[in-house]
Amino acid sequence: NAPTRESILETIKETIEKKSVELLHMQFVDLEGTLKHVTITAEQLGQAVNGETMFDGSSITGFTPINQSDLYLVPDITTFAVLPWTEEEGYSEARFLCSVKKPDGSDFEGDPRNVLKKTVKRAKDQGFSISVGPELEFFLFETDEYGLPTQRTQDVGGYFEPSPKDDGEKVRLAIYKALKMLGFTIEASHHEVAEGQHEINFKYADALASADAATTYKWVVKTVAKQFGLHATFMPKPLAGANGNGMHVNISLFNDEKQENSFYDDSDKLGLSPIAYSFIGGLIDNVKDFVAVTNPLVNSYKRLVPGYEAPCYIAWSASNRSALIRIPATRGPGTRVEIRCPDPSANPYLAFAVIASAGLDGVERGLTAPASVDADIFSMTSAEIEDRGIDNLPTSLEQALERFESGKIGEATLGEHAFTEYLELKRGEWDQFRMTVHDWEISAYQSKY
Ligand code: GLU
Ligand code: MG
Ligand code: MG
Repeated sequence: NAPTRESILETIKETIEKKSVELLHMQFVDLEGTLKHVTITAEQLGQAVNGETMFDGSSITGFTPINQSDLYLVPDITTFAVLPWTEEEGYSEARFLCSVKKPDGSDFEGDPRNVLKKTVKRAKDQGFSISVGPELEFFLFETDEYGLPTQRTQDVGGYFEPSPKDDGEKVRLAIYKALKMLGFTIEASHHEVAEGQHEINFKYADALASADAATTYKWVVKTVAKQFGLHATFMPKPLAGANGNGMHVNISLFNDEKQENSFYDDSDKLGLSPIAYSFIGGLIDNVKDFVAVTNPLVNSYKRLVPGYEAPCYIAWSASNRSALIRIPATRGPGTRVEIRCPDPSANPYLAFAVIASAGLDGVERGLTAPASVDADIFSMTSAEIEDRGIDNLPTSLEQALERFESGKIGEATLGEHAFTEYLELKRGEWDQFRMTVHDWEISAYQSKY
């Protein structure tokens, strides 16, 4: 039995009392997934939970024009949490994650959280809930005398290496403790392949709770790293020649009526149901149209190159880590699809929405999955790749944006407002990059020509 709104509010009031919470941060994300908040006092809890906190939408990336700028925050009361690093004797601060509404009380279409809620509802209407478990990798970099990030990684550890090589262990421990106090269930923590690279995994949840968790996780990682004088970055490819930061997204559908994983079928040779195959078919069919959201930066496409465990070919496999889509070995309730192209610079709300929507499209159209590719694609010749009909992912933000604009997933999932704003924002980013003369060009051309 889900707790009632009254009982949740009662618990919040008790916690505010017990932990002497003085300030409440009303948080939400902009179109890029950047966390924002306005801080109010705990005495204003009543107005806040009634959705009376107003803000200027015209100052938020991708939100409203200046002449229709008033928007309101509607806190999701289940996201109330005391911030562990603010706690001291007789004082602490807490936060809510919020959705955004317009002055007329209706949902604001430009709010990424509302976008994901619409996709969740679309799945619900078909009898499914969407379960998501993202894996966000990050680097820890040293900072300079001004506290700004340098290109020096904080340690020289490699995959699964313990201390003393893994000098980030103590930072990860502090992150773990903070996340735990914020209600996360942590499943694993380890040093990643690149020097200074790390990953901490938390338990999967329904799509909205998982996007909230990814948002909170990024904030906590950065906040705690800073306490150690370090800069944590989720930039997809901070160092050329080293692994980049991925955000693998594990996703499955649950049948609401039977409360069962709809991807599992023990009578199939891979243990996958027709729905799972259709979902995979939908991802493969639509992926080029949505990477502009899951891989949103100019820099994202520098990660999607051969040799660094990031995908560049559109294929699926039950085991192959060189494929775009992998089916982790777990079956039964844990049966899921892992899509490996997304990176953690993506707005998690929009990313989960487009991925789910691409898969659901496959289910609605009854697609089947193409033949799986179980050999290492990176070691195939280009003739072999072509023979097998393996296509590749867009290689630049520009290509991705072209597909995003003309494809059917973008506008249908984001809605007209967020779609138009996103396209304009990202086109601008591409243009800036295109018009910049980069260090590489200077070093390759200036002396030579
Ligand atoms: N860092 C890799 C990437 O860019 C992923 C490594 C892994 O399999 O965890 O996606
Ligand atoms: Mg990893
Ligand atoms: Mg993974």
